[in-house]
Amino acid sequence: MPVLKLFNTMGRSLQEFVPLNPPKVGFYGCGPTVYNYAHIGNLRTYIFEDVLVRTLRRFGYKVTHVMNITDVGHLTGDDDTGEDKMVRSAEERGQSVLQIAQFYTNAFFSDTERLNILRPTIVCKATDHIQDMIDLIKRIEANGFTYMAGGNLYFDVSKFPRYGELANLKLEDLKAGARIEVDGNKRNPHDFVLWFTKSKFENQALTWDSPWGRGYPGWHIECSAMSMKYLGESFDIHAGGIDHIPVHHTNEIAQSEAATGKPWVRYWLHAEFLVLDNGKMSKSKGTFITLQSLIDHCFDPLDYRFFCLGGHYRSQLSFSWEGMEQAKASRKALDDRILDLQDKVLHAADQTAVADQTAKKEGLEQPDDAHWGVLALDISTLSDKAREHLGRFDDALAEDLNAPRALAELWQLLKDPDVSPREALAVAYNMDEVLGLRLSELKRETVSVPPEFVVEIESAIQERAAAKKTKDWAKADAIRAGLKAKGILLEDTPTGTIWKKL
Ligand code: AMP
Ligand code: ZN
Repeated sequence: MPVLKLFNTMGRSLQEFVPLNPPKVGFYGCGPTVYNYAHIGNLRTYIFEDVLVRTLRRFGYKVTHVMNITDVGHLTGDDDTGEDKMVRSAEERGQSVLQIAQFYTNAFFSDTERLNILRPTIVCKATDHIQDMIDLIKRIEANGFTYMAGGNLYFDVSKFPRYGELANLKLEDLKAGARIEVDGNKRNPHDFVLWFTKSKFENQALTWDSPWGRGYPGWHIECSAMSMKYLGESFDIHAGGIDHIPVHHTNEIAQSEAATGKPWVRYWLHAEFLVLDNGKMSKSKGTFITLQSLIDHCFDPLDYRFFCLGGHYRSQLSFSWEGMEQAKASRKALDDRILDLQDKVLHAADQTAVADQTAKKEGLEQPDDAHWGVLALDISTLSDKAREHLGRFDDALAEDLNAPRALAELWQLLKDPDVSPREALAVAYNMDEVLGLRLSELKRETVSVPPEFVVEIESAIQERAAAKKTKDWAKADAIRAGLKAKGILLEDTPTGTIWKKL
């Protein structure tokens, strides 16, 4: 396997990936705030994280993927401003915060399932980890990084000299240019709440006892507490969308390292935004498209996955309905090619079976999984040509997860006349373990053809072959036309003539 290189936001460079304890890899991705459906921008980020996890596994790593579910503490502004997202949604819908959280958590995993995003190894809810957060905040406090003001406990960014390194922030500039609705309790606009006991929300639904009084945690602390609980105090990769660089991830780093005194995360990966009409897709502005709205427009969720794979995760991706149409058409062409290869492989298998006079004829009925097992080729026995395609595919992934190049390599493979159908199919299925387009689950619509008819078709094919040998083209064409009239299409391939139901 080539050397895997990832673009680390910390340092802004492409770096060789070296995990702390190979072959183990600890990966934490910020999960959804479950106050509404995920929009397709959010889902782009989760598709990127899925390609990351699948690539790491392909490269031999044993990945523990942790994802949090934010069901408390996230305000509409990431910097402690605005309203509480969960509380507002619960009020609007006349339900409890916990009901809202359960409903949208289920909706989220139904979306990710439909996009063939693998479920994280560990999914953890913020409200199940309040004690872990309290314990971590106590450590931050004991190390002298906090102050109480107006009833809330704040993190004092001036005590953490590396504050803002991830985002290349300069504290002085930030003070001067502070754009935010300043919370009068803060000594510095970038200080942030670790624990609220008093907030502007009289109606805060969920509160817990703590050493600082009854209240609830700030948003950022959950990711530090849960990632460390499941992955240790230092781990390999943390990812999310680019909007998290300046505030959420910046604050996560400050509080985590303030608590442990150790470097926390080794590689920071950030997905660029999906944009709509040159603007941001935003839940709070109400301008968001869900996966269900794509389905309502007659797209398959995998069309959207394909659409996302067509752009590099570090480039902005512009959403358009035309772009979706193109993705749908390309994915259809890909599926058709795979089905075609399946037919060819199947036909070859049938011919062998007929020759052996062992297998019973089943017309064009699809093979069961055991039958497709013949395609589970040992990669080490591949032809040089097929291996080259596979090598270039892995190179593309190794170069900071270049999915568009990897996808292009799949096409190259499928178009290569020097790769046999059986090999092409086996390699395509292998590549799809990262692309996740469910290629190996494809099956031509079951069409059953009575066995007598199969005999008739095959003797007609032989008759036609004989006619062609004697250059009796008229007869050969007539046989082809006769079969076509009965709904059977012949196709001449280098390995012989195959037939399909029209
Ligand atoms: P949230 O549920 O708001 O916490 O967001 C979930 C994930 O989606 C986070 O990693 C965000 O950074 C990411 N995200 C938000 N908006 C977009 C967008 N328009 N395009 C891509 N990712 C986004
Ligand atoms: Zn987070």
